[in-house]
Amino acid sequence: MPYTTGVQRMWIGGRQIGAQDAKCFTTVSPAHDSPVATYVRGQAADVDAAVAAARAAFDQGDWAMLPGRRRARLLHDVAQRIRADKASLARLEVMESGKPITQAYGEIAAAVDLWEYASTLCRHTRGDTYNTLGRDKLGMVLREPTGVVGMITPWNFPLLVISQKLPFALAAGCTAVIKPSELTPGTTLALSTILHEAGVPPGVVNVVTGFGTPVGQAIAEHADVDALSFTGSTRVGRIVAARAGANLKRVSLELGGKNPHIVFADADLDAALDAVVFGVYFNMGECCNSGSRLLVQRSIADTFTEQIVALARTIRIGDPLETSTKVGAIISQAHLDKIERYVASGLKDGANLLLGGQPISTASGRFFEATVLGDVAPDMAVARDEIFGPVLSVIPFDTVDEAVQLANDTLYGLSAGVWTRDVGTAFEVSRAVRAGTIWINCFMDGYPELPFGGYRDSGLGRELGRFSVDEFTELKTVQLHLGPTRSSWL
Ligand code: NAD
Repeated sequence: MPYTTGVQRMWIGGRQIGAQDAKCFTTVSPAHDSPVATYVRGQAADVDAAVAAARAAFDQGDWAMLPGRRRARLLHDVAQRIRADKASLARLEVMESGKPITQAYGEIAAAVDLWEYASTLCRHTRGDTYNTLGRDKLGMVLREPTGVVGMITPWNFPLLVISQKLPFALAAGCTAVIKPSELTPGTTLALSTILHEAGVPPGVVNVVTGFGTPVGQAIAEHADVDALSFTGSTRVGRIVAARAGANLKRVSLELGGKNPHIVFADADLDAALDAVVFGVYFNMGECCNSGSRLLVQRSIADTFTEQIVALARTIRIGDPLETSTKVGAIISQAHLDKIERYVASGLKDGANLLLGGQPISTASGRFFEATVLGDVAPDMAVARDEIFGPVLSVIPFDTVDEAVQLANDTLYGLSAGVWTRDVGTAFEVSRAVRAGTIWINCFMDGYPELPFGGYRDSGLGRELGRFSVDEFTELKTVQLHLGPTRSSWL
């Protein structure tokens, strides 16, 4: 039996829209192999309708000029409604993504925090004035909402990722056309229902379900979409950026990572141990921030690695609906096969299998063992590519300079962790590592106040923080002449 029955309809122009030609797709629980829900397989025509609705809501509606205090109240109300629905949202997230239920509850709470934080920004978006241009001149810089924003999201943190974009765009006064991942559209559609019930006007938020081609592609290419906010793989990020570039829309990209977790010998090693294991196996390793490269100082490398193997062996992997489960299911068979291929390539290249390395045999679903690879050389694929699975590659170093050089020896630059009791070393490494977020003596903490995004192949632009509303605005210069005009050109 599917988890929900009937076809889940899309939200376009404030109405729930079914499939025009009966085209649908069904999501499947990665842990239970059971159908979860059936959705409309959206087409380019649905994107046209959604963009037209978002365009009309932006150009002709009151939304863009709604007073900040009313917008703030609305976003705050949405946050409370998400909180009230947390049990059904968390369960749906687990069923479609395979993540553990306790973690899903944590992500719903984090999403509530994002909506609450964004609500506070509605009343602070402001421009600038120049009273320094001369007696008869006044310069004003207005911040205006960018317009219609296309949002394309991945499957690994469905509600959380859309909550990193949408409330900030709404705070700025934009309207949106959203395409969630075809593997996990459930909570994004549920969020749209919440927005509708909270009183967000028709057309302000539209959701088209379906696949990258044609739905994502149509959003990226659409001439009436002013900006594109994409979270996903670097490979697809390049494609959508090229398509969006053809009509010069603004693009922000949150992409992949191969993040170094650097442990010095003088660190609090018990704390570092727990953080390294959490950092790589959290969300089954299907996490852009996964600390999948452990750079460890050579003097402690053997002992520390042995401790990691011992701790990782104790992780409860299994049914994500069990509250004791720490690591759930791998999203799809194709992805599990990819993880397996990467481990095999590491071993072929000369890495040493210290733990795991195999799919776990279960009655249903797809699971992969917590895996540790030792003797990894920096030029191996397992040291360079985003595997997006529970695989840790261990690389020893001797000096601070070597740690920095290894950390930066990647095309990615999303995040990095550094563990040391020496504040000088911590700052030296923080400054030298080219990544958007550096965690010192902690890992993967996140706050709505702090911007998040990547250097290099990890992305373009930043989400979160007070600056993120600015990313959904245009600056307009208004020059005012005061008093009589004293000079003429001719
Ligand atoms: P993906 O790139 O395969 O898909 C992302 C989205 O793009 C999906 O909705 C998909 O349907 C759509 N898409 C696919 N092809 C498209 C096309 N040609 N045109 C337009 N849209 C298209 O990524 P995924 O497998 O869903 O997610 C995993 C990736 O996301 C990882 O690389 C991970 O690092 C990254 N990610 C990054 C962050 C971050 O904040 N930096 C957060 C979460 C996930």
